[in-house]
Amino acid sequence: MAATGVNNMENERFLRSVINASPNAVITINEAGEILVFSRAAQAMFGFGEAEVLGKNVSMLMPEPDHSLHDGYIRRYIETGKAQIIGRARPVMARRKNGETFPAVLHVSEFDEGARIFVGFVEDITRQKATERRLEDTQLQLQHAGRIGAMGEIATSIAHELNQPLTAAASMAGAVALTLKKTTFDGKDDALALIDDAVAEIRRASGVIRQMRDFLRNRETERAAHPINRIIEESCLIALIGAETEGVMVTSALDDHAGAVMVDRIQMQQVIVNLIRNAVDAMQETRNKHLTIATAKKDDTVEIRIADTGTGITDEMKKRLFEPFATSKEDGMGIGLSLSKSIVEAHKGEIYAKDNHPAGTVFVVALPAAKDDA
Ligand code: ADP
Repeated sequence: MAATGVNNMENERFLRSVINASPNAVITINEAGEILVFSRAAQAMFGFGEAEVLGKNVSMLMPEPDHSLHDGYIRRYIETGKAQIIGRARPVMARRKNGETFPAVLHVSEFDEGARIFVGFVEDITRQKATERRLEDTQLQLQHAGRIGAMGEIATSIAHELNQPLTAAASMAGAVALTLKKTTFDGKDDALALIDDAVAEIRRASGVIRQMRDFLRNRETERAAHPINRIIEESCLIALIGAETEGVMVTSALDDHAGAVMVDRIQMQQVIVNLIRNAVDAMQETRNKHLTIATAKKDDTVEIRIADTGTGITDEMKKRLFEPFATSKEDGMGIGLSLSKSIVEAHKGEIYAKDNHPAGTVFVVALPAAKDDA
């Protein structure tokens, strides 16, 4: 330890012991910024041995901009007497020998031993900062989860509140149409057409609400081994309501040996239902309405194919097919395929579309087969 400034202390060894006993780094400098004392804790904190720093400028322990500005800080203080840092604890960035910078709290005091001496106490707060950051991260995640949860709840209650009046409105409009059909008056056809339009609009509103609710529904995913054919059959029950009356012929070609997949059943049903509904939608205007739903086992993969003879996908739409909000439908939301893709990929599967021949589209979902012991 350099003696400058502590010459006149009676017991230098005693002082040295006190300094070295401090858990915080103790560093003293003179007016020129040269290091006079560099305690044991300072050596451990900064990675420099005493001999490497004594007499050197203290700015070597600071990253930029302080590294370049520190001499100016001392000079200004000596000239003006205005303390920026002396007597107060301040958060600073410090630099270790290996170049690593770390957050620290610095407290500087001053005393006069014929010449001015500044003594700095440095506390390394890396760990506190890391803990703070982890807490912040956790808090953010919680907030995010909470928000999604809250959105799910809001969506469910909005859906509930709106679906009842919408269903009532649709059936009232249907009743009016039935009554009108029994009467004759001028403009009857126009009136009936208007009622049809009204019902279509109401259905559309219900559809949007349903999609929003399904999308935001807050539920844990639960994966288990499910026979793929059963998932398909359950999905068909939901998805094909009304399809027959729309003139769609459905062929199912389920492979008895397709086996099981390790999936969240509800999510996978969402995917299949969405693909079937899209297929039925695509055949609304075509004369040939043939829907084929097939499963097949290929090595370690189970493949689901949903083929339609509909309009096919335009080149423009092919580029954005799985992007959110990409839709060609007047009443579409464009959420179905993007959501399906995230679900399938979360199950380590693959989803893609290709042209059907001579017309229409085939959607393929390939999922890893469940291991026999699952
Ligand atoms: P939405 O059905 O609300 O439009 P999707 O994400 O499910 O949202 O579908 C996005 C778009 O992809 C549809 O609007 C349609 O243009 C196209 N599409 C999806 N499936 C088919 C299909 N089987 N045949 C033709 N086009 C399809």
